[in-house]
Amino acid sequence: MLNVEEKVVILTGASSGIGEATAKVLANKGAKVVLSARREERLQKLKSEIEKQGGTVEYKVTDVASQQEVEELASFTLDTFGKIDVLINNAGFMPLSYLYEKRVTEWEQMIDVNIKGVLYGIAAVLPYMRTRKQGHIINVSSVAGHIAFPSSAVYSGTKFAVRAITEGLRQEEVENNVRTTIISPGAVDTELVNCISNQEIKKGIEEQIMEFGLPAEAIANSILYAISQPDNIAVNEIIVRPTKQEI
Ligand code: NDP
Repeated sequence: MLNVEEKVVILTGASSGIGEATAKVLANKGAKVVLSARREERLQKLKSEIEKQGGTVEYKVTDVASQQEVEELASFTLDTFGKIDVLINNAGFMPLSYLYEKRVTEWEQMIDVNIKGVLYGIAAVLPYMRTRKQGHIINVSSVAGHIAFPSSAVYSGTKFAVRAITEGLRQEEVENNVRTTIISPGAVDTELVNCISNQEIKKGIEEQIMEFGLPAEAIANSILYAISQPDNIAVNEIIVRPTKQEI
């Protein structure tokens, strides 16, 4: 039996793309999933789709850039399902641009969502997981968290940070039986490109995704793999690229 059934999973960024696919895959395997994101109508629709398939889900509208809202998400999960087994920090924002463009507001939004959002998630569940001496925190980084390229400086900076934070967390919490996993996807066909305001860069990424972008389920399945391992096995890092993706 997979080590997934009956697990209570908090999932950020559940309203589209990788998060939406992950919610479906985990609920299908018997996990109880708390969906979160800002777009409530998307969460409502996903909840009813999953429930029609027999899955157990709830949702809570949450902006991960707000520490208070992320704390409330964790409290909501405990009140609703009585425990937290897994946190998946998946929410992300990727407005790629060149540094000389000085899109400072976008830099700040990336830092708020991609770094602070992940930290707020960890802060919201870690004291509980330490006391319980059990838990699993999965943080979604990127291939851009391994390699920087022109236009990815700030985005890559945030995704490198996610990997550093996750590795630090891993080493700090080995004694407390808290598993950590870094998921680094390559090109995946989602709505993420829509936030790129530099049209030339956006077109380049869209072409790449059209040529070989993976379906979001490919990443959801890697998350399922990490969660489903026995408790003494921590899958610490997974990179999933399309076979045709060079960098
Ligand atoms: P999507 O744009 O489809 O999903 C992003 C999700 O993040 C949405 O559910 C969105 O929900 C949520 N989100 C964004 N900002 C916030 C916020 N402030 N508070 C709460 N939720 C927020 O993209 P993906 O599914 O592709 O992205 C998922 C993760 O995968 C991200 O971390 C991304 O960086 C990473 N990734 C994606 C790759 C790809 O090629 N697609 C490659 C490598 C990594 P809402 O707007 O409703 O709040």
